[in-house]
Amino acid sequence: PAQLLDGKVLSQRMYAAMTTQVQELTTKYGRPPGLAVLMVGDNPASAAYVRNKERACERVGIASFGTHFPTDVTQAELEQTIQALNTDDRVDGILVQLPLPGNHLDGTALLLKIDPSKDADGLHPDNLGRLMRGEPGLRSCTPNGVMEMLKAYDIAVAGKKAVVIGRSILVGKPIALMLLAENATVTIAHSRTPDLATVTQEADIVVAAVGRPNLVTADMVKPGAVVIDVGINRIPTESGKGRLVGDVDFAAVESIASYITPVPGGVGQMTVAMLLHNTVLSYSRRLGET
Ligand code: NAD
Repeated sequence: PAQLLDGKVLSQRMYAAMTTQVQELTTKYGRPPGLAVLMVGDNPASAAYVRNKERACERVGIASFGTHFPTDVTQAELEQTIQALNTDDRVDGILVQLPLPGNHLDGTALLLKIDPSKDADGLHPDNLGRLMRGEPGLRSCTPNGVMEMLKAYDIAVAGKKAVVIGRSILVGKPIALMLLAENATVTIAHSRTPDLATVTQEADIVVAAVGRPNLVTADMVKPGAVVIDVGINRIPTESGKGRLVGDVDFAAVESIASYITPVPGGVGQMTVAMLLHNTVLSYSRRLGET
């Protein structure tokens, strides 16, 4: 059976290292790194994500400047808040929790207001452009978490055939660019790719970022391939609570892959760790540390 790429263990290790680093930096510069999360409305899933982020910050010693707005907040009010955070020296990272409720708010316009040097999610066009150009910048968290996992388990990427399923700005496209930057030969498959199985069967590394349970079945995977499951899907259970699964038929694929990420406990655990990593990186760059 495949070896598990354990996001839980890896993220714990990152938190431990960051805690020490943040303590040292806080002593040296007289203030901790700061992250501001803007949340609008009360979508329960978003609220849970925001709580996780704030708890993780607290754990490593990053200050939270979270602001919670009612659903009827105006675009102008949010933009003014972002402008104020851009010039607030205690704040190193800013993010707007998506999705935004209703249709009176323009998420892209908000993103464009964030100072790119404080763009903790790495989704500002300036940072996406830097990724495209192979220049340093803030990288988006889930894709960067995938790369961190491959690195931590010493999985060679250079010269390998990688297939990324999914082409979103949030996940698929940036992962493809990051794998390319590490010299993989990259194919991007998507909803209009005919005969997905023949494409994935060639891959040494398969990344699934779609949002469909059991999309990747065992017959689609080359024996010995590395399988990274980014998908997060809630499927109904008898108890009514539901259960989280990825895009990969884990039980079947596990027996033929060389490495595989579990869901939960895989890529998802890395995302918040990379957000904190970005906040510390932005702090260090802004203070001239790196
Ligand atoms: P998205 O809906 O924006 O993109 C899905 C992509 O899948 C699209 O590019 C589409 O072309 C492709 N696709 C759809 N059906 C397909 C099919 N039948 N065959 C091949 N490709 C198909 O979603 P997203 O934001 O990129 O997220 C993808 C998944 O990753 C979701 O399950 C999401 O919940 C999860 N996700 C996880 C994390 C994490 O931290 N682990 C972070 C972000 C997203």
